[in-house]
Amino acid sequence: MIAQRIHTLTSELPEGVRLVAVSKFHPVEAIAEAYAAGQRIFGESRVQELQAKHEQLPKDIEWHFIGHLQTNKVKYIVPYVSLIHGIDSFRLLTEVDKQAERVGRSVGCLLQMHIAREETKFGFSFDECREMLQAGEWSKLQHVRLCGLMGMATNTDNMQQVEEEFRSLAAFFREVKAGWFASDEDFRELSMGMTHDYPQAIAAGSTLIRVGTYIFGERNY
Ligand SMILES: *Cc1c(COP(=O)(O)O)cnc(C)c1O
Repeated sequence: MIAQRIHTLTSELPEGVRLVAVSKFHPVEAIAEAYAAGQRIFGESRVQELQAKHEQLPKDIEWHFIGHLQTNKVKYIVPYVSLIHGIDSFRLLTEVDKQAERVGRSVGCLLQMHIAREETKFGFSFDECREMLQAGEWSKLQHVRLCGLMGMATNTDNMQQVEEEFRSLAAFFREVKAGWFASDEDFRELSMGMTHDYPQAIAAGSTLIRVGTYIFGERNY
């Protein structure tokens, strides 16, 4: 089942769009099944869970951290994580840089933008993000690579609203790319789209979709 869903999903992805298989709350056996089907990028949202899975599973898996990351837990994942999607403050970015320097790595990071109408979602507003980029301190950090932006649309069946949110994030991505990263090849990822809205996200320009439920089924929290 899992292998079939991986094949279905990846075969319909346009060029330049990659799948992050969101395996949070699912056992290593489920991940191994997806891995056997060729999937290499997996997304987790809790540090301890990611730690345990990283230890047990093949080392060529590219682990993406997609959840809310607490500053005091950064050190546990920095030695091996490929991309951190949820950078929502300059302080967190600084901590990733500090821990990455300690282990001699450079870690890819996405700035998380708040695009949903819900209060609960983390992330920068467009203005906060512009201010941080304009301040320029980030450019002194030698051990993080800013690779793009991430966002979550409002959890609603109103797909028109979802499309508008994705389009506004895509427009903001183009603004940031042109304004601060025009000659930086690393800055190219737009992480948006989950099980119920990934077609809309792809249409708006997503390069990384984060899909869990469609592949692995419902999560038991
Ligand atoms: C859980 C989660 C997903 C996957 O959601 P599904 O609806 O199961 O596809 C994607 N992104 C983030 C940030 C998540 O926390």
